[in-house]
Amino acid sequence: MKKHLLAVTLGLAALAALAACNPKPKKVPSPPPLSAAALSAHVKTLASDAFEGRSPGTPGEMKTIEYLTTQFRTAGLEPGAGDSYLQAVPLVETSVTNAPALSITGPGAAQSLVFAKDWVGFSNQALAAQAWAELPLVFVGYGVTAPERGWNDYAKANIRGKIAVILINDPDFETSEGLEGPFGGKAMSYFGRWTYKLEEAARQGAAGALIIHETLPAAYGWSVVTSSWSVPQFAIAEDVAPRLPIQGWISGESANAMLARAGLTYAGLKKAAQKKGFVARPLGLRASTQLAIATRQINSYNVAAVIRGETRPDEAVIYSAHWDHLGRCPPVDGDDICNGALDNASGTAGLIELARAFKAQGPQQRSVMFLAVTAEEKGLLGSAYYAAHPLFAPGKTVANINMDGMPIHGPSRDIVIVGAGKNEVEDVAVRLAGIQGRTLSPDPFPERGHYYRSDQFSFAKIGIPALFVGAGLDLVEGGTARGKALEDAFVENSYHKPSDQWSENLDFAGAAQDGQLLFDIGRELADTAVWPAWHDDAEFKAARDATR
Ligand SMILES: [Zn+2]
Repeated sequence: MKKHLLAVTLGLAALAALAACNPKPKKVPSPPPLSAAALSAHVKTLASDAFEGRSPGTPGEMKTIEYLTTQFRTAGLEPGAGDSYLQAVPLVETSVTNAPALSITGPGAAQSLVFAKDWVGFSNQALAAQAWAELPLVFVGYGVTAPERGWNDYAKANIRGKIAVILINDPDFETSEGLEGPFGGKAMSYFGRWTYKLEEAARQGAAGALIIHETLPAAYGWSVVTSSWSVPQFAIAEDVAPRLPIQGWISGESANAMLARAGLTYAGLKKAAQKKGFVARPLGLRASTQLAIATRQINSYNVAAVIRGETRPDEAVIYSAHWDHLGRCPPVDGDDICNGALDNASGTAGLIELARAFKAQGPQQRSVMFLAVTAEEKGLLGSAYYAAHPLFAPGKTVANINMDGMPIHGPSRDIVIVGAGKNEVEDVAVRLAGIQGRTLSPDPFPERGHYYRSDQFSFAKIGIPALFVGAGLDLVEGGTARGKALEDAFVENSYHKPSDQWSENLDFAGAAQDGQLLFDIGRELADTAVWPAWHDDAEFKAARDATR
């Protein structure tokens, strides 16, 4: 009791001192908690058939951005992109129209690889045709340039004008038992993703790249590669980064046959590539192909709304969620609309309700931006465009808090931080989750590299400490057994399928609980002068250091 009184007395003295140097101490009203019913109502609308699965460039997009704009405006938020809520994101859709063979020449008879069976390839340079004419193939191991980890597969590669042949995943995926190693062992790192490999090959000046498929390190089978790469591909219309004229994958089987002609084995090359000091190796083979390409321009939009900070309006916390989903998709039981209720009407709903909650409690020291991005499902394109055209300077952006799938099975006793161990925003999340009475569970699927597969990755790449909280599986009702069963059932039956749709059986109490946590994190970051940092071994620390 005495101790308590003393604390109150000291507290009053401190307040008085504060009042003396700060003319108007602000009493911050606590906003009402996030409402499960409100979240559910937004999801019901956004994931309704009228929105046709919210595919970029369709009438479903017009409805979605109109809905978001209206919600932000009526909540009283300012436009985030100049005097508009919309940031135009010009996209280009490219289709390979001629099913081109890939011909490999060198020792022995020419090898002809069949498109969508033995190899797939495309170009996101929006030209009518692209070709490789007898270009030399160079094996570059994992295709990783990471001097800070003592690794450079391109050190002596001499790759300019040639084709890089690259392994999937990263050098310590198979050599480490756990999560130890320069690339996080079994966990997938940035350097293990195919997107990184293609971007790096382009930065190195290659004329093309072929990634060798292998199911375990890729985390999916060859059929996933062929089905997702033989349909139209999307890209940002302008060149925001170097691009390869042609990029693609080759099946493990075809790679084995190809390497055998060079007198090499896949296993032998892989072993060499896993060793520090690996040197890229010309294969003595050449590749030729000709792509005929059809292109279509698409105008799409990110939606941005902002609450300006009172004392440091140029500094911002950014909440993000992708508004898009797959649109029309292969029918299941006669239903051909992939409504994307969880993915990601739920995150979009969270964005709207967070905006309302922040508005209800009044401005803070820093600005808070609410950014609904387009074309995540096409390769994180809306957020990548934002990263190339940021509305707050990256060095002045305190953190990104991304939402991609809010819980739909009720509250949980735990939280999951996807790709945990990267930055100090996570520490804030864990501490505030503790106040909610929740604990941190490890990422159940570190090998899947989910951190690199949604929009937080685009923010991380430009150095902004980014947080992605996944759904906890230890449900208040039914515990981990029920949580895991529901998660597995969703992945099996509904992920990217027409049955990911709103129903009154979805329980948004967990989304409200996570939303509350995300609100608390952003509120704390927006009302301090603290700059959460990347840990020293995080892939994105160098990018942050370059901006601050
Ligand atoms: Zn998603």
